[in-house]
Amino acid sequence: MKLIRFGPPGAERPGILLDQGRRLDVSAFGADYDEAFFAGDGVDALRAWLVRHEASAPRVPDEVRLGPPIRRPSKIVCIGVNFRDHAAESGADIPREPVIFFKSTTSLAGPNDCVVIPRGGTKLDWEVELAVVVGRTARYVAREEAIGFVAGYALHNDYSERSFQLERGGQWVKGKSADTFAPLGPFLATRDELADTRALGMWLEVNGQIRQRSTTANMIFDVPTLVSYVSDFMTLLPGDVISTGTPAGVALGMRPAPVYLKPGDEVALGIDGLGCARQRVIDYA
Ligand code: ZN
Repeated sequence: MKLIRFGPPGAERPGILLDQGRRLDVSAFGADYDEAFFAGDGVDALRAWLVRHEASAPRVPDEVRLGPPIRRPSKIVCIGVNFRDHAAESGADIPREPVIFFKSTTSLAGPNDCVVIPRGGTKLDWEVELAVVVGRTARYVAREEAIGFVAGYALHNDYSERSFQLERGGQWVKGKSADTFAPLGPFLATRDELADTRALGMWLEVNGQIRQRSTTANMIFDVPTLVSYVSDFMTLLPGDVISTGTPAGVALGMRPAPVYLKPGDEVALGIDGLGCARQRVIDYA
């Protein structure tokens, strides 16, 4: 199943995306895609509900905005430097253990919302990433069992304000957490939709020019390893997000000099099986 949420920011309602792009309003099912939904086997319950109600569920008009496909989670955990080529362009060593950092949960945005350059920002950068959504409470999970704790996957652009991240001291979270810095979706593909995440093509363009083109096969640490690893340090709740890192091709790695995003730029990105998203850059007003 492909889960979507639609409507104005902060007032999204749950839906599903069917083949041929048809979007259905499943508000009548009675649950948003949040911690309780995933914890209570909501995906299976929704699937069962649809057998009887799909025909009568209202269509969502094409012009209605998509929100992030999950309600605001308890945390967004990100993995840094998880692609060999990105490590090289960033001048970073290949990590011996996964690098973990947080994004604020208020950075969550719809897949096609504008991305806002934060006040004082000068180095807005893009990162196409495979995001994993947790399906069950995960604590000290073995790698071999880790996939059983995954609800599904979504496309994510892990935006960064590099000057806040790298020039203002302290943790990366400063440069990762502004409003609109975590556009997620267009949809959450439940785990059965993507049986194998080990070689998914991923790409990102800025103003029609390709900047990132890679595959998840270039990850240093794979999805099961990351779910297991993060669960050694914190309890992952249903609905939590783990974003698994970006390949080469970010602005920070451009030679001779980075070309960061500016107002009016258009960023488009996609991952095999997870759809495409598009964000226009605007200034904080
Ligand atoms: Zn990232």
